[in-house]
Amino acid sequence: MTREGGCLCGAVRYAIRGPLREILVCHCVECRRWAGHAWTATAARNADLELRESGDLVWIPSPRSEYRASRGFCARCGASLFWRAAGFDRTSIAAGTLDEPSGLRVAAHIWVEQGADWERPPEGVPAHPRGYPADGPPLAWG
Ligand SMILES: [Zn+2]
Ligand SMILES: [Zn+2]
Repeated sequence: MTREGGCLCGAVRYAIRGPLREILVCHCVECRRWAGHAWTATAARNADLELRESGDLVWIPSPRSEYRASRGFCARCGASLFWRAAGFDRTSIAAGTLDEPSGLRVAAHIWVEQGADWERPPEGVPAHPRGYPADGPPLAWG
């Protein structure tokens, strides 16, 4: 199954040939400053992610990331697209940039202790004060 997505203006387009992870909604300060609110992301293996149009894709270091992560955005329209940690074999992808239907669902909210004071996860969805817990239920890929 191939899924595709892209930025607002179309200058960045990508395809994923492989499974995507369930969605995590990250309320950390870095995601919030970058996206304007919680960043809602799925993930793909790097080997499954093909950048089809990427001339305007710019990567910047995430300033305080403990993972030495980089964030990829479209320099033409400003869309926030990708997050990638140094040495990780997968890339987080902004779920809202996927073409529909994505078939995905939100698995959990993370880093809610850093969320804005107006930002509260909905009732009935797992919410974690910091990152996704190592002993939490495994996130599904499909
Ligand atoms: Zn764009
Ligand atoms: Zn975050």
